[in-house]
Amino acid sequence: METLSPLDRLLKLVGKLPGIGPRSARRVVLHLLKKRDALLQPLIDALIDVRDHLKTCTTCGNWDMTDPCQLCQNPKRDDSVLCVVADVADLWAMERSLAFQGRYHVLGGTLSALDGVQPEHLRLESLVKRCTTGVVREVVLALNVTIDGQTTAHYIASLLHPTGVKITRLASGVPVGGELDYLDDGTIHTAMQARMAV
Ligand SMILES: [Zn+2]
Repeated sequence: METLSPLDRLLKLVGKLPGIGPRSARRVVLHLLKKRDALLQPLIDALIDVRDHLKTCTTCGNWDMTDPCQLCQNPKRDDSVLCVVADVADLWAMERSLAFQGRYHVLGGTLSALDGVQPEHLRLESLVKRCTTGVVREVVLALNVTIDGQTTAHYIASLLHPTGVKITRLASGVPVGGELDYLDDGTIHTAMQARMAV
């Protein structure tokens, strides 16, 4: 097997990043080579820093440089509401929306018969534990509206039922800026189910 040159290795690695094919990989690598001081070195430093210091928050499952993470440490956030998300990407999406001011719980995936994801693979035990301290009053299930996401939501709802906490889920429906004609049937159906007074 031939050994790749460092440059080819870099091209190959960059090409493995999501959303980047061989063509984009060449553009990215060329850009890095042109901007060695301004971009390549800072990128190397940032990667090493993240590799050496990234932690998984033992409370919520978020990724951060500290454990507990900044979100868990923030005294301004509401301890009584817990938002359950499948992974860190969803937590970031919720944070970008500025729609939520409570705490999070990252499951680390969703139940999936197809992919063999069982309850013991998710951070469910710690979720139940957090819901039995008397601090949490409401759990918002912010899971994908897919079969796996909804299966997980039902499972968690039954798991948390004995704790007595209120369990809610995100409303789903017509997206802002969405035209009815372009929506799929499932979206229109749930939007109609969750209709509200005007
Ligand atoms: Zn945390």
